[in-house]
Amino acid sequence: MYVIFLGAPGAGKGTQAGIVAQKLGLAHVATGDLFRQAVAKGTELGLKVQSYLKEGKLVPDDVTVKMLLERIAAPDCRAGVILDGFPRTLEQARALDKALADLGKTIDRVIYVNVAEDELLRRLSSRWICRACQAPYNAVNSPPAVKGKCDRCGGELYQRPDDTPETVKKRLQVYFAETAPLIDYYKRQGKLAEVAGEGDMAGIGQRIIAALKEAVHR
Ligand code: ADP
Ligand code: ZN
Repeated sequence: MYVIFLGAPGAGKGTQAGIVAQKLGLAHVATGDLFRQAVAKGTELGLKVQSYLKEGKLVPDDVTVKMLLERIAAPDCRAGVILDGFPRTLEQARALDKALADLGKTIDRVIYVNVAEDELLRRLSSRWICRACQAPYNAVNSPPAVKGKCDRCGGELYQRPDDTPETVKKRLQVYFAETAPLIDYYKRQGKLAEVAGEGDMAGIGQRIIAALKEAVHR
């Protein structure tokens, strides 16, 4: 099963993708996490992409598509994948469709997590991430049990350098210009399920699982 989680920065895709992937035994592949790990390790890829991340711009499609296709070819992705933060442009979506078609596979479902813009801004400014396992927390909605510490692994929580007000504004602009058109792209393919991304976290997760089960039984 191949599933895409689509939505703006701050929509809660990452949080839900982590939970749902674990529940359904799918791999959780987040391109933003892969890029941040590369930057942290100082790899060749990391050096190439760090300025894009810092400024809230998209990494070029060729670099992103290559990294993603390599990642989903790994053995842990055999049972299926939740893609989080990819595709983010029409070109990426087309490249993914083509690569999957070559393998005789296809995207099963696209979950569009919809959150109002003022709520996105509020969430991004109070977001904290685990340095070790990338689990996201929110100082307002979903704080960790112990301040500054990850519930899942005990790692240190930090605020992402691209969660500054200026960069957040840029990332939202990029989202509306480049990524939002994908909503229509997948709607036309009959694959889109829209899920309200506000309200309590458990409820959002249940709506997502329900939308995925529907896809399996089609
Ligand atoms: P968010 O969704 O909160 O903006 P991500 O962790 O998904 O955060 O992405 C962080 C940054 O990584 C983006 O601003 C961009 O620079 C880069 N990035 C992640 N995914 C992609 C992608 N599919 N295409 C291009 N750039 C990407
Ligand atoms: Zn952690």
